[in-house]
Amino acid sequence: MTTTFEAMALAAPLKQVLTELNYTTPSPVQAQAIPLLLEGRDILGCAQTGTGKTASFALPILNALHSDPRPIRTKQCRVLVLAPTRELAGQVAKSFSTYGEKVRFRLTTIWGGVGQRPQVNAMRAGVDVLVATPGRLLDLIDQGCIDLSAVDFFVLDEVDRMLDMGFLRDVNRIIDLLPKKKQSLFFSATLAPNIVTLAQKILKNPAHVTITPEVTTAERIQQKLCFVDRGNKMYLLQQLLEKQSQASEAKLTIVFGRTKHGSNKLAIALTAAGYEAEAIHGNKSQAQREKALAKFKQGLVPVLVATDVAARGVDVKDIGLVVNYDLPNEPEAYVHRIGRTGRAGADGLAVSFCAEDEIDFLRDIEKLIKNQIPRDTSHQWHSENLQEKHRTGFKPPKVKQGGGGGGGRGGQSSSQGTPSRTSGAARRRTRR
Ligand code: AMP
Repeated sequence: MTTTFEAMALAAPLKQVLTELNYTTPSPVQAQAIPLLLEGRDILGCAQTGTGKTASFALPILNALHSDPRPIRTKQCRVLVLAPTRELAGQVAKSFSTYGEKVRFRLTTIWGGVGQRPQVNAMRAGVDVLVATPGRLLDLIDQGCIDLSAVDFFVLDEVDRMLDMGFLRDVNRIIDLLPKKKQSLFFSATLAPNIVTLAQKILKNPAHVTITPEVTTAERIQQKLCFVDRGNKMYLLQQLLEKQSQASEAKLTIVFGRTKHGSNKLAIALTAAGYEAEAIHGNKSQAQREKALAKFKQGLVPVLVATDVAARGVDVKDIGLVVNYDLPNEPEAYVHRIGRTGRAGADGLAVSFCAEDEIDFLRDIEKLIKNQIPRDTSHQWHSENLQEKHRTGFKPPKVKQGGGGGGGRGGQSSSQGTPSRTSGAARRRTRR
């Protein structure tokens, strides 16, 4: 399997962008899917959001647009990506624009809930890439504003959600309008029988790419959840690092912060407290990140403070402890983060801190992993108040997450003085 982007048969402008984005290592879904797609294979991908699946299909498609540019006729598109929601369609379109920054191509998006005129206008000249939700797309097709007969690449993203939302009929109708000869890509987080039936209808001799959720490796990982006021997080972290420094093996620790700034501040505060730490995040140059990682791998710096994106591809065997200093607001990231420890069959410990403004994030994570993370109430800074708020369905006020930071006893103690709302309605939270 190709393990670097450099070794992949991608055009130079795409590789340049990846370097600028500091993407060095393909994620597992990218390592598997990109070479197959470049060969022209259909793909049945079982991968969730957060695995890097968007780049896994956007890069080979952009590669084809770059190496084989063609004139586009009115109302036509060469690439059709169907996504279940406007948000997802927007994210996919943004990814195409980001990865294709140095490629000449035209893209437009089509979704409901907004006026159709700009969409009709955009399609008049035709586009290379059309990212759409099924309902509005069909509307415009029925009005004669879109012609799917020139589609070379067809991507169905998040099929499970699409079917959950009742789009099966629409999707089937759209498929019937596509030309027979095309390359099809099909992504779903799960493969229930109705999804497999749909895949069989679309795909020709597909290659299967399955990214097993890292939850399976998590069996070796001991997980703990600490309810702790934000102002006490630093004390608790130092206590954990002290214990970790006495470990006989797997001494390395990754601490996750949510923001770049917070991670920087935290690394500085830890170093000042005697726990040498380096921060890696998207604002650091490739060279700086590689240097920090090399020092970490050699054990010269025992603590790495990282953001989620920066930690992708960090594959270090001896990480004994992962600390979620800030809980991730994307629940999938929790699974990726704790998977940094317990590598190569070793046991690992993952400790997560939950302050008042992270109670909702904790709910999302536990819903995703379908388990309650075992509570650690034995530490000195345990907050019974927060644990109770979590238990009774308290909804934290929406505040911007500061992330990381030194903190201390003098810091804000966010669980005090905030009214507790424990109504049933509060519990029925709509998803972000
Ligand atoms: P996705 O699963 O496509 O939504 O991607 C999840 C996140 O990972 C996005 O923020 C991407 O920008 C980022 N990402 C994707 N591939 C890589 C990579 N190879 N290295 C670093 N970050 C990546």
